[in-house]
Amino acid sequence: MQKPIVAVVGRPNVGKSTLFNKVAGSRISIVEDTPGVTRDRIFADCEWLGHKFTMIDTGGIEPFSKDIILSQMRRQAQIAIDMADVILLLVDGREGMTAADLEVANMIRKTSTPIILVVNKIETKELDRNSFEFYNLGLGDPISISAEQGLGIGDLLDKVVESFERSEVDFEEDERLKIAVLGKPNAGKSTLVNRLLGEDRVIVSNVPGTTRDAIDSSFKYYGEEYVLIDTAGLRRKNKIYDEIERYSILRAVTAVERADVCLILIDAEYGITEQDAKIAGIAHNRGKASIIVVNKWDKIEKDNHTTKSFEKDIRETLSFMSYAPILYISALEGQRVNKIMETVLQVASEHAKRITTGMLNDVISEAILLNQPPADKGRRLKIYYATQASVKPPTFILFVNNKELIHFSYIRYLENQVRNSFGFIGTPIIFLVREKT
Ligand code: GDP
Ligand code: GDP
Repeated sequence: MQKPIVAVVGRPNVGKSTLFNKVAGSRISIVEDTPGVTRDRIFADCEWLGHKFTMIDTGGIEPFSKDIILSQMRRQAQIAIDMADVILLLVDGREGMTAADLEVANMIRKTSTPIILVVNKIETKELDRNSFEFYNLGLGDPISISAEQGLGIGDLLDKVVESFERSEVDFEEDERLKIAVLGKPNAGKSTLVNRLLGEDRVIVSNVPGTTRDAIDSSFKYYGEEYVLIDTAGLRRKNKIYDEIERYSILRAVTAVERADVCLILIDAEYGITEQDAKIAGIAHNRGKASIIVVNKWDKIEKDNHTTKSFEKDIRETLSFMSYAPILYISALEGQRVNKIMETVLQVASEHAKRITTGMLNDVISEAILLNQPPADKGRRLKIYYATQASVKPPTFILFVNNKELIHFSYIRYLENQVRNSFGFIGTPIIFLVREKT
């Protein structure tokens, strides 16, 4: 199931980043972090009472600069409207209501997205009276918190989770396979989306997302319906987003969250870059199936070594994603675009594949015989057995005598053996280690 997205918006200095760090840092566990963007904390994977969600700090996207605060706030509110399932509007209970608060409230009020009004910096009962004036924003009952001291955070998160429950129908009913098209600005995402939707495929509908205003398109392929999540669609409405890399990262996060399979578009003209690696890292860390699609292949002067040298660069830069197939296409001219759906179906089925415990343990036992786990100070790791706990992505549990004895490199070895036997092309696989007493 896809994780809902919670966006925090508000003026500078109301305490957005304090709240964000509080929620992401202590009360709830950070499930994973994406390489490269961790430091900036623009988003975090959170969990409260068994509900997983992704939290976005819109204030972290671009630092507020004094003279253009209002336009930046509008942009951040727009991001929240485009992407979030729940919006938290944070205001400062010590300063009281300001014109800027009203401005943001007026912007977000127009959406159908649930909004929770949060009054921060309320450390005492007396101060709590300050929250009443925020009823004037017309967003319902304010919740008082102190982000700094961690007061009221539990109640707030309860309310957040309640809002998910109200919209949960939207998350669960859709069984169609979802494909996200990712890549740097100008990699050719819209061109590819148009290609995939065009020609012999029937566009069933072009509905705005049910839970947010992202533009999803569905189409039929051999009688089955699929959904394309077009991350470029948002850009067309808000051209300015593109100039800031963090916007494209955020856009990728929210699209990946909802997707089963990610198409990672690389612009052949530029070769593979650090930004491509960040985007691919998001898909990998979220356990999605991925295909690396090198686009604009028509623009490249080719000789016998061209494909090999491209592949080498990609494998080096995306070393964490060695499982992903690579396609070389021209979205503009249509070359090999027909390979895409074929490959999507293949990796989607690998992503959902189950291996019987018997077959899995045959492979693991043989792997152990072939290459014994190293002993550490006389103690030897024993692997009793393994089982596949879940799919999407395939997740295996290894039962061992002592967790501390298992080394990352040995898990990597087992992963390779499992892949040699079962493939799992296009999908990450995860090993969890449990002690069995
Ligand atoms: P942002 O610009 O909205 O991200 O705001 P920050 O999180 O950077 O906080 C701005 C200032 O408000 C900092 O000096 C914080 O220490 C302070 N602050 C944040 N939360 C609280 C709170 O709950 N109570 C009080 N008294 N101060 C707070
Ligand atoms: P997006 O920003 O990722 O959505 O990229 P667009 O689809 O808007 O494409 C950016 C530019 O690259 C446009 O001028 C496209 O015509 C061009 N383009 C896209 N795909 C190809 C391709 O396969 N070959 C060539 N030569 N140009 C392409």
